[in-house]
Amino acid sequence: MLLHFIFLVKEEELEQRKWEFQYVEKMANFYKTWIEKTFSQKVDVQSDEMIVRSGGRFRILDTPVIMEDHVNRGEDIFHFYLTYFRPMWTDCTCEGYFAENFGMAWWQKSPQKDDVNFLMEKNCTKVSHELSHEFLRKAKYKNYKELVHEIWDKHLFAALPFEYYDANNKKTEKDPLFATLDTSSLKQ
Ligand SMILES: [Zn+2]
Repeated sequence: MLLHFIFLVKEEELEQRKWEFQYVEKMANFYKTWIEKTFSQKVDVQSDEMIVRSGGRFRILDTPVIMEDHVNRGEDIFHFYLTYFRPMWTDCTCEGYFAENFGMAWWQKSPQKDDVNFLMEKNCTKVSHELSHEFLRKAKYKNYKELVHEIWDKHLFAALPFEYYDANNKKTEKDPLFATLDTSSLKQ
C-alpha cells in the first residue's frame, strides 16, 4: 500500500516553508518504519507539496474539498494531507481527521525557521494519532477511535510522555527528530 503525504503550501510561502517540507519527507520515511513496527503493515511512502495559488479553488478550503482531491487521485492510495487550516468538523481531539485511506492534520506553522522541535511536538504527534485510527480500523479493531483517544488524553492531561525517535528511526531520549503517541498498548 502507498501512503502519500501531501503538504499544502500557499504559493507565496513556498520558499520560506521549504525546510518544513524537507522535514515532512524525512517524517514520511520514519512513519514507514513506525507503521511496520506498530501495526505490522508494510507501506511505501511518498511525499509531495500541493501548491495553493491565490484565487485557485483550493483557496477556500475545508475537508470536503480535500476529500474530493483524495477521490480524484485514487481511493486505493492512503492520502494524508498536512493542511494549513483546521478541519471544519472532526470528532478527533487533535485537530485532525481521518476516514478510509484518508488522513488530515492541521500542520501548524513554526513561528521560527528551522525549529524542528516545534514540528515534532505539534505536528508529527498529530500524524501518529490519525495514522493509529486508520491502521487500527484496517486491522478490524472495533474501538479504533476510543483506543487512540484514551492514549491521547493521557498525553494531554496525565503527563504521559510521547515516544521520541532519532534520525535513524530508533527510540531515543536525546536529540529526537520525531515524536508519536505512546504505542505500548497498540503493538500488534
Ligand atoms: Zn482522534
